[in-house]
Amino acid sequence: MTDIDENALFNITLGLYVVGSYEKKTGREVGCIADAVMQVSANPMRIAVSLESNIYTTKCVKEVGELSLSVLPKNTSAELISEFGFKSSENTDKWNIAPFYKDGKLPLLKDCIAVITCNVVDEIDIGDHIIFVCEVKTAKVVKGCEPLTYAEYRKSMRKASSKEKGSGKRWVCTVCCYEYDGDIPFEELPDDWKCPCCQMGKEYFQLQ
Ligand code: FE
Repeated sequence: MTDIDENALFNITLGLYVVGSYEKKTGREVGCIADAVMQVSANPMRIAVSLESNIYTTKCVKEVGELSLSVLPKNTSAELISEFGFKSSENTDKWNIAPFYKDGKLPLLKDCIAVITCNVVDEIDIGDHIIFVCEVKTAKVVKGCEPLTYAEYRKSMRKASSKEKGSGKRWVCTVCCYEYDGDIPFEELPDDWKCPCCQMGKEYFQLQ
């Protein structure tokens, strides 16, 4: 394991996407953030979307066999990423955070670069993620601007939360890259303190 530097993997270029789907029984919209999305075939036109195995949106995609993608632009708010990326659709109506519309039963963001709807044609269980191989049903450019990359997202999260307190110590959330900069020393925060960005506990922070 010592031969693996995770920072090397962060140099693989990824985008950020909101994946949409719905509950089979109720039709209620669900969704999450995905970074591992790519086109894998042109004819037929197919994309691969890798989602965490244990999340609620994945469960719904498995049941209904379809999903949508909204391609996020550079100026996407941290709130939207936090809502879709770090909460569960099981108990949150995430789509309330932004204007959206539906194509059939699939929810899509109004403010994004492009929207794609797909049918799932195959599922590959690869460990803690499932790769959904999807056939593209519809694809549309919404507005021409630059897409947000995962690397830029990580960089902007650091910038937004870093205020140089001068201690030299930086406690950084390993989930969302939020950098703690409060007046109370990090070690003295209560045990139930949570990352203000992704809501994960103190144990997810690392001293850097
Ligand atoms: Fe966080």
